[in-house]
Amino acid sequence: MFHAFKTGNLPEIARNGLLIIDKRTELGAGRLGEYVNVTGNTVGNTFLACLEHANFEEVFADLRENSPLHKRMVEVADGPPSLTDAGALLALATEQLLAYLTARYDVTVLRGREIDKIRYLDSGGFEIDYHDVSDPTEVCTVSSDTVVMNLGGQQHVSEIDELCRGLRLPPPDENLRSYVSDDLLSLTTPQLIDEFARDLSQRETRRPKRITVIGGSHSAFTVVDRLAMELGSEGLDEIAVIHRSQVRLFFETVDEAHANSYEVDEENDVCPVTKRVNRAGGLRYRAFDIARSIMASGYIPGAKPRIELIEADSSDAARSRARECLEESIAVVHGAGYGPNMSILVDRWDLPISLQLGQGGVVSDRYGCPFDVNGNLVQGLFSFGLGSGFRPDEQIRRETGFEAAFRGRIYGVWAFHHDFGGRVMNGVLEALSTVPFERDTDIVLDENEVIPDTSSASSL
Ligand SMILES: Cc1cc2nc3c(=O)[nH]c(=O)nc-3n(C[C@H](O)[C@H](O)[C@H](O)COP(=O)(O)OP(=O)(O)OC[C@H]3O[C@@H](n4cnc5c(N)ncnc54)[C@H](O)[C@@H]3O)c2cc1C
Repeated sequence: MFHAFKTGNLPEIARNGLLIIDKRTELGAGRLGEYVNVTGNTVGNTFLACLEHANFEEVFADLRENSPLHKRMVEVADGPPSLTDAGALLALATEQLLAYLTARYDVTVLRGREIDKIRYLDSGGFEIDYHDVSDPTEVCTVSSDTVVMNLGGQQHVSEIDELCRGLRLPPPDENLRSYVSDDLLSLTTPQLIDEFARDLSQRETRRPKRITVIGGSHSAFTVVDRLAMELGSEGLDEIAVIHRSQVRLFFETVDEAHANSYEVDEENDVCPVTKRVNRAGGLRYRAFDIARSIMASGYIPGAKPRIELIEADSSDAARSRARECLEESIAVVHGAGYGPNMSILVDRWDLPISLQLGQGGVVSDRYGCPFDVNGNLVQGLFSFGLGSGFRPDEQIRRETGFEAAFRGRIYGVWAFHHDFGGRVMNGVLEALSTVPFERDTDIVLDENEVIPDTSSASSL
C-alpha cells in the first residue's frame, strides 16, 4: 500500500476497488508490535525510511512534526529501537495513510475480519471467505481479481519433532512443554514468570533447571535473552541452545571480525558490495552482544543462567549432549524461523492448493507469485511479508549485495517497503492490465457492509 501510493500507482491499483481485510482492528504493526522487551535487529532509520518520500509529505506532515513517538524513533535513528516503538510508529503511519486513501480512492478496510479461505478459480480470479472475529458463524464471501496474501509467518510446536529429526535427534518426550518463540516473546515479564513458576519453584536439586531452545539465529537468541534475564532470578539454572550451523555474527569489516577473534570465510561470508561480514544473516545489536558474550563466557552479563551452545551436527559428542539436554529440560522452545501462512489457499472444490516450499518460505517468481507443486504459477496471487517467496536473487545480490553463504529469506520491514513492495506492486499492475475496466463480478458481503462502487476488488 505504501509503495503503491508513493509511486503514484494507487489510483490504477484501486481502479476496480481495493479491499483490505485483516483480523486485527488496528493495522500496521502486526506481530512486530507484540514483542515485549525486544530491541530491533535493524536501526531506527530503516523504519523511518518507510515514511520518507515526497508523496508522503502531506500524509505524514503532522506525524513528523508533532508525534513524540516519531521524535523517539529519530533519537535512535542510528541504533536499534525498541520493537514496541517501531510497531507503534508503523501502526500510526498505516492508520494515517489508510484514512487518507479511503477518503480519496475506492479503498475499503474490513477490520476484525478473519479470512477462512482464499479460493482460486481457474477461470480467473478468487473468492475470499471471511468472518467477523466476534461472530465466527456468519461467513461472507467477496470476489477479487488479484490477491496479495500478507498473513505473516507461522511457527508450530508440532514442527519441533521435525526440527529434531533434521538434526538426527530423537523427538522430545511428548510430555515436555513446548513453545514457539513468538509466544514467549509476546509475554510480559510477569506472564513469562508465571508461565514457568511451577517448574522453577520445585525443590528438586539433583538436576539443573534447564530450558532448551532450538535455533541459532535472531529469534532464538532473542528468546534466550529474555529467558536468561527474566527467569534467572526465578530459579532457571541453564539454557541449552541447539543449532544446526555456525552462529553467524555481523561485522562492518573483515578486520573488525578478526579483531574479535571471529573466523571469516572471505569467499562466502563477505558481502561483495559493502564488504560487510554476514551482512544478511549475521546477528546484530543486542542479539550480537549476547551471542558474543555466550560464546566467550557461557553467560549473558547480568544474568544468572549458564548458557550452552550445541552445534548438534558438528560431532557425535555434540549430538549426544543435545539429546541429553532435551531429555533433561523443563521446556523446549522452537526458535528456528517461520514458515509461510498459506494454508487457507484452496481450489474451486475447496481442496488445499499445495505450493512449492523452499527454505523459510514459498517458492515464487520475481513478483512474489507462488508456484504450486506442479510448477504452475497461481496467476493473480502474490505472497508478501514474513514467509513469502522473496530470496535474494541475482538482481538483489548484484545491486544490494549479500554474502554467498546466506540462503535464507529477507524479512526486514525496509525490504518490504522498498524492493519487494515494488515487485509485488508491479506484479499486481501487470495482472490488472489483463482485467477489463468494468468487470461484472459478484461481491457477496454482509448486508451491513457496503463496498463503494466495487465491481471487483484487488485485495491486500
Ligand atoms: C524477535 C524479532 C525481531 C525482529 N526485528 C526486526 C527489526 O528490527 N527490523 C525489521 O525490519 N524486522 C524485524 N523483524 C522481522 C519483522 O518482525 C517481520 O518481518 C515483519 O513484522 C513481518 O510482517 P508481516 O506483515 O509479514 O507479518 P505480521 O506482522 O505477522 O502481519 C500479518 C497480518 O496478517 C493478519 N492475518 C493473519 N492471518 C489472517 C487471517 N486469516 N485473516 C485476516 N488477517 C490475518 C494479522 O492480523 C496481521 O496483521 C523481527 C522479527 C523477530 C521475530
